[in-house]
Amino acid sequence: EPTTLDGFLDRCADEFGDRPLVLTDDVTLTYADVARESRRLADGLVALGVRPGDRVGMVMANHAEFAAVKFAIARAGAAAIPFNFLYRAAELAYVLRQSRCEVLVTMTGFGDLDYPAMLDEIAPGWDAGPVAELPDLRAVVQLPTERPARAGVRTVEDLAVLGDGSPGGTEAVERRPHDPGDILYTSGTTGSPKGVTVTHDAVLRTGYASALTRAFEDGRRVLFSLPCYHMFGYVEGLLAAMTVGGAIVPRLQFSPGDYFAGIERHRATEILCVPTMTVALLEHPDRRTRDLSSVVALLSGAAPGPVWLWEKVISELGITEITTGYGMTECGGAMTMSLPEDDLERHSATVGRVKMAGVAGIPERDGDLCVYGTSDPLTGERLPDDVEGELVSRGPTHMLGYWEKPEETAATLRDGWVHSGDLGRIRADGYLQITGRSKELYKSGGELVMPKEIEELLTGLAGISQAYAVGVPDDRWGEVGCVWVVPEPGATVTPDDVLAVCREKLARFKVPKHALLTTADRLPTTPTGKVQKFRLAARAVEVLG
Ligand code: ATP
Ligand code: MG
Repeated sequence: EPTTLDGFLDRCADEFGDRPLVLTDDVTLTYADVARESRRLADGLVALGVRPGDRVGMVMANHAEFAAVKFAIARAGAAAIPFNFLYRAAELAYVLRQSRCEVLVTMTGFGDLDYPAMLDEIAPGWDAGPVAELPDLRAVVQLPTERPARAGVRTVEDLAVLGDGSPGGTEAVERRPHDPGDILYTSGTTGSPKGVTVTHDAVLRTGYASALTRAFEDGRRVLFSLPCYHMFGYVEGLLAAMTVGGAIVPRLQFSPGDYFAGIERHRATEILCVPTMTVALLEHPDRRTRDLSSVVALLSGAAPGPVWLWEKVISELGITEITTGYGMTECGGAMTMSLPEDDLERHSATVGRVKMAGVAGIPERDGDLCVYGTSDPLTGERLPDDVEGELVSRGPTHMLGYWEKPEETAATLRDGWVHSGDLGRIRADGYLQITGRSKELYKSGGELVMPKEIEELLTGLAGISQAYAVGVPDDRWGEVGCVWVVPEPGATVTPDDVLAVCREKLARFKVPKHALLTTADRLPTTPTGKVQKFRLAARAVEVLG
C-alpha cells in the first residue's frame, strides 16, 4: 500500500532496526540510527519554519548524513531538491532561484568547490538572513566537510539539537504518498536543467521494482560513487537496498582503487557503474590483490556497454549478475532493465525490458512498472513497436510535471504520456534499443537526418576519437549538418578529409556541409560529463558566421 518516504523508513526500521543501512569508512549507521536522526532533523526543520509544500535544497556529496537529511525533509512534509554538488556559482544560482528554495542544506566544501564562497558570490549577505538575490532562501544549514562551518551559520548537528528542543514538531504535519517528495533536476544535456516533480510513491515504486528486477537477496550491499542527488544513486542504490534490509556503501568520488578497497572492507555484494567506470576497474592492478569475492552483481547505466566488456567483467571480476538500465528523471528513474539471467547480447544491444512491479513485502514478479511505445517524432502519431521513433511512456512512477515550467510540461507530458526525447525501437522480444535523441535530429532539404549515423561512421575511422553532428540554419536547405570532430592525440585529420569520407559513404542529404575540429577538453559538457549538443550547435553558428 502506498506510503511516504519517511513512512517507508520507519517501516524498514521496525523490521531491520539493528542492521547497517549506511556503511562508510568512518561510520556505520543502522536503520534505527537513520530513523532517529531523521526525526531530530525533521523536528529541527519544522522549528526553522518549514511547512508542507516548502522546498528544502541539498548540496551534498555521498556523505553518511545524506540519507538522514533526505528522509528528514520528507518527514517535515517538504519536497527535497537534491542539487548537483558539482555546480559552479552560476549554475547553483539558476537552480536555487528557479526552484524558489527556502532552506538549503549544504557542505562547506568539496575538493576545490567552496559553497559558502559561492553563496557570497550569488547572494552577498546570505548568512545574515534573506537577501534580494535569493528572496526565498530563509536558512542555510552546513555540514562541516572540508573546512569548519562559517561562524554564526547553523550546522547539521545544530539543526538536530534545535529539533531536540522542540520534539514532536512533525507529528501534526500532513504527509501524503501522492504529494511531491522530490524535485530532481535533469542533467541539462539538451538545455537548462528542469526540476522534475515526483511523488513519494513514485520513487518508492521504482526502487522496489529495481530490487525485484535485479533479483536482490536479503541484505544486499550496494557500493557506488554515482551521486545520491541523481536517480541512479538515490533510487537504484539507497531505496532499492532498503527494500531487502540491505545497505549502501556510498563512496565520495570514483577511483578504481577506492571501489576495490570499499568492496573488500564492507563486503559489498553489488556495484553501480557507468561503462567508463567498468573499463577503469578492469584496467586497474588492484583487482588482482583485493578480495572481491563478495561482489556478485553489477548494475550499469547511462550508456551502452559492448559484449567484450561484460565478458571481462565475468571472467576477471568474477561478477555473474549483470543488469543494464535505461531511464530518465521524468520517469522516476530506470524504466527498463536487462535481467541478471539475460545473455550478453541483450545487455549490450538493448537497455533491457520494462522493470517488474510488485507490492513491497511480496517478493514476486507480478506485473510491469509502466507501459511504453514509440511515436513519430514529428507528428506524434503512434508507430508499430519495431519501427524506430520517439519513446513515449506512462505509469505510476512518472513525474507530476516540471517545477514551474508549464510550457515544457505541456510539451513533454501529453495526455498522460511522457515524451522522452529519446529515439528507440522495441524489439520483438520486448527489449528496448535506444538509438539517439529526437531533439538532435535535424531536417536538411526536407529530409530527416540522424546524427548518430554520421557520428558512428566517423568514430569508426582511424584517427578520430569523437564526432558530434548538429544542424545549423541554412538559407537554401533550411538546415545543414555541421560535424565537430575530435582527432585522436597525434593524428592529423583535416575538415576536408572528414567531408570526403562522408560524401563517399553517406546518402547526399546526410552529408554535412561543414566540418570543424576541436579537442576533448573544449567540448561543452554537463557537470556529469554529457556532451551538450545544443551548445555545439550555437558555437558552430558563431564560428561559421
Ligand atoms: P536534460 O533532460 O536536461 O536535457 P538528460 O536528459 O541528460 O538532460 P537525465 O534525466 O539525467 O537528463 O538523463 C536521462 C537521459 O539519459 C535519457 O533520456 C537518455 O537520453 C540517457 N540515457 C539514460 N540511460 C541510458 C542508456 N542505458 N543508454 C543510452 N542512453 C541512456
Ligand atoms: Mg532529458
